[in-house]
Amino acid sequence: MEGPSIHLAAEQLQPFVGRRILRVSGNSRIGIDRLNHRVVRDVFAWGKQLVLQFDTFALRVHFLLWGTFAATVRGTSVTGDYRRTGPPRLVLASTNGEITIWSASLRFLDTARARDLYDFSADVLSPTWNPRAALQKTRRHPDAEIADVLLDQSIFAGVGNIIKNEVLYRTRTSPFTSVRDLAPRHLRTIVEDARVFSFRFLELRRAFALRKNLEVYGRSVCASCGGKVNRKVHGTRERRSFFCRTCQPVLAGPARTLARR
Ligand SMILES: [Zn+2]
Repeated sequence: MEGPSIHLAAEQLQPFVGRRILRVSGNSRIGIDRLNHRVVRDVFAWGKQLVLQFDTFALRVHFLLWGTFAATVRGTSVTGDYRRTGPPRLVLASTNGEITIWSASLRFLDTARARDLYDFSADVLSPTWNPRAALQKTRRHPDAEIADVLLDQSIFAGVGNIIKNEVLYRTRTSPFTSVRDLAPRHLRTIVEDARVFSFRFLELRRAFALRKNLEVYGRSVCASCGGKVNRKVHGTRERRSFFCRTCQPVLAGPARTLARR
C-alpha cells in the first residue's frame, strides 16, 4: 500500500481513538497480548507506515508489498476493497468494532509520543511537506535514476511504485534518466507532482476508482500517443517501470551520450 492508502486508513480508523481494546488475536509473534485492555490514543500515518498510539507505547504497522487491512465500525465496513491473503497477522476488537491486518510488518515503539519520531516534512501528503528540502536531497544523488530516487522514503515518504510510474508519465520523464541530466525546472516539476498526484491517488482511492484512472501503471497502450507501454525492472531497487518511449524520451547530458540506452 502506498502513502495515500495509509493516510486514508488513518482517517478510517479515527472511530477507534479513545476506545479500549477488548480482544487481541493473530499470528504475529511480537507479543501482541500487550495490546489487550489498552486504549487507542491516536492513529496516524507517516509515509507508508500506520501508527496506533497507546498510553506508554505505539504499534507501527508497515504494509510492505502485500499487506492489507479491513475494519468495521458498528458492523459496517469502513475500509476499501483490499485483497485479503491468508490468516490475519493481527485482529483488534474494541467496543465499537474490529480492525484486521494481513501480511504486514508489526513493531512496537516504546514511546508515549511516536509522532515525535517522524519527520513529517518528508511526507508528500503532510501539511508540512517541504518540497525545497526534497529537491535538495534529490540533488545529492546525481548518478541515481530518477525512478529510484522517487522511491526513497527519506525524501518522498509515501511514494510507492504506482505513484512513481504515474508521476514520471505525467511529467514526461524517462524512468532511466539520471538526476544530473534533469533540468532544474523539470526536476522541480517532478517533485511538485509527487505531492499533486499523491492527493489525486487519495481521492481516487476514496472513491474506489484508482485502478481505472491510472494512465501508465499496468497499461499496455499509451493513453496519449497510442504507442506501446514498455515494462522493465531496473535500478538499484529493482522495481518495475511502465513507460512510453515516445512520451517519456530519455534525456542524456553530454557525459552520458555513450552510455545512453
Ligand atoms: Zn506515448
